[in-house]
Amino acid sequence: MPLLINLHRLEEEDLHLTGELSPAEVNYEFEDEMIRVESPLLYDLDISNSGDNLLVQGQISVQLACECVRCLKPFQLTVALDPWDLLLPLIGEDSPEIVDDCVDILPYLREDSLLEFPRHPVCSVECKGLNMEPPTISATPATPSEAEDSSAWSELNKLKLK
Ligand SMILES: [Zn+2]
Repeated sequence: MPLLINLHRLEEEDLHLTGELSPAEVNYEFEDEMIRVESPLLYDLDISNSGDNLLVQGQISVQLACECVRCLKPFQLTVALDPWDLLLPLIGEDSPEIVDDCVDILPYLREDSLLEFPRHPVCSVECKGLNMEPPTISATPATPSEAEDSSAWSELNKLKLK
């Protein structure tokens, strides 16, 4: 389901959008057996038209149902982007598709929140895992619990793959 911004209306007044989108509406496409999206994506956004750009500022968050990669314990993790900013050029190569004066910003909510999903969800940084697990599991490096660190963490993973 799209989250449409009417550009014509935006020329007259700024918009404030608050609401939620169900997992089916957001339609995250990712494969991770340790993470499930069962809660709605919440958004609280101020939208304005700054010349040739669509400016979106606010916050988005979604709660994830995770399974700890070390101890397999289920836990909830909230991924929050606060503040979340989006500057969309309305003309040029990078502009989004405009249909009937409307732009769908849902793909940007989806992609930006997906980037903050943990790569290796861990219930707590102190988690020692299951005692019965083989040493390879307990040798897994500590994963930062903060979503803000996930980008640095993915960089580390890229290095390890080489
Ligand atoms: Zn754990």
